[in-house]
Amino acid sequence: MTNKLFQQLVDNYTTMDRAWEMTASQYNFQCKGCEDNCCTSLFFHHTFVEKAFLIHGVGQLAQDIKKEAQDRAKIYYNKTFPAGKMPESRKIMCPLNQDGRCLVYGYRPMICRLHGLPHELHKPGASPFKGPGCPAGQFDSAPYIPFDRTPFYKKMAKIEIKFRQSTGKVGKIKETVAQMLLF
Ligand code: SF4
Repeated sequence: MTNKLFQQLVDNYTTMDRAWEMTASQYNFQCKGCEDNCCTSLFFHHTFVEKAFLIHGVGQLAQDIKKEAQDRAKIYYNKTFPAGKMPESRKIMCPLNQDGRCLVYGYRPMICRLHGLPHELHKPGASPFKGPGCPAGQFDSAPYIPFDRTPFYKKMAKIEIKFRQSTGKVGKIKETVAQMLLF
């Protein structure tokens, strides 16, 4: 069952990657990395299925590389989640980023894939949410090109429901990649 759901996850990732690339090309935008690297953003991830897939990807790494990433995750976690205080973005590089590259690129979560472009999100009963693009894109000076995250979120929610049913996972999940590596 998990393999089938992982395939559905990959299909959803592929669809969003294509949509992202198409929209980015319409802006003539190419991500070449920047000082405000999105891998230093405090991203939280909210699905057990994405966590399981990421951990599966981490499991493909050589032991020494994996150990280094976990060591970085400990440092990341201690700095970002100081005891007794609210978590705070310290602009620390994601522990899975090594020398500017994502060690688990094919397994990276949805938000890593969707980040960067101006976008919209439609939730039932709420006004449409409009999000800005990253500063490197200088999107403010260009007309908005529709990039709707809603179908990807909806598809993800369906996969997550099936994953929870097959694994017995319950409750909320809100974790950084560093937390996923440690627990
Ligand atoms: S998982 Fe990969 S793409 Fe996502 S923040 Fe970490 S290094 Fe960057």
